[in-house]
Amino acid sequence: MQILDGKIVSQAVKDELKIKVDALLKVGKRPPHLAAVLVGSNGASETYVASKIKNCAETGFISSLIRLDENVSEAELVNAIEKLNLDNTVDGILVQLPLPEHINEQKIIGLINPDKDVDGFHPISTGKMVQGLPAFIPATPYGIMLMLEHYNIQTTGKHAVVIGRSNIVGRPISILLNQAGPYSNCTVTVCHSRTSNLKEICLQADIIVAALGKPLFLTADMVKENAVVIDVGITRVADASKKSGFAIKGDVDFENVAQKCSYITPVPGGVGLMTIAALLKNTFNAYLQRTN
Ligand code: NAD
Repeated sequence: MQILDGKIVSQAVKDELKIKVDALLKVGKRPPHLAAVLVGSNGASETYVASKIKNCAETGFISSLIRLDENVSEAELVNAIEKLNLDNTVDGILVQLPLPEHINEQKIIGLINPDKDVDGFHPISTGKMVQGLPAFIPATPYGIMLMLEHYNIQTTGKHAVVIGRSNIVGRPISILLNQAGPYSNCTVTVCHSRTSNLKEICLQADIIVAALGKPLFLTADMVKENAVVIDVGITRVADASKKSGFAIKGDVDFENVAQKCSYITPVPGGVGLMTIAALLKNTFNAYLQRTN
């Protein structure tokens, strides 16, 4: 069994980007610029945004954080997005989800300039991705694809089972794995909360992507020998032994599943780190498209 190490792969992606940014600076160009919009002060969202900003700095990118109050009106948020859309020094815009309930998330995502949609959630980005056109791929599925590529995992003709059908993880990774190309070409089954016989389906999988948000859901009896297991889940579970009061758990019972796998991602230290690396890659591509 080999661990798919998000720390190693994300660092490799960031090192490559840093070299490119340094080369741009040398010839007098500005660095890429990511703007993050954070509404409210949800603990997990604060952590994610802080990490994205830290990673921007490490890679030589500029970042801006636009903080808005939990009770901000939808009109004020729209205004903030429109300002970023018009700001020529901003290459990528991300709105940290989830947004408070009084705000229409889909409307806000749809307002982001598709040329700056580095989270890849805009319907135009989704449409391009589905058609196999160059597109901003949502960061988590993109990060998974980068990981498969880094470890040269053979996927052609394999049966991939994706557990979860959300717009940000399950559905896009199912499309990417199914597309023609290296590290794709899979036959894909997408499972969800209404799927019958989930265990039987998982037992047929060469590759399983667990993206449902239920800690330790995928157990060893659901996985066939030598499967590749990608754990996307991130759930905070109360843990008095931790200083923070919680531990991060994935969707896979790692300890027992790992023994059956050919490859597996750990949580933490797997897909989460790749998500940030992929976001930086999208931002760099947005920068290139906008400045060339
Ligand atoms: P979501 O709640 O939007 O979607 C969950 C999906 O799982 C749904 O499609 C649902 O039908 C399915 N599901 C729920 N219970 C199920 C069950 N018992 N059997 C089969 N399917 C079931 O969640 P999401 O936004 O896609 O996120 C999923 C998980 O991935 C969460 O833990 C989230 O925190 C994590 N996540 C991690 C990263 C990362 O960077 N690693 C990024 C995004 C999300």
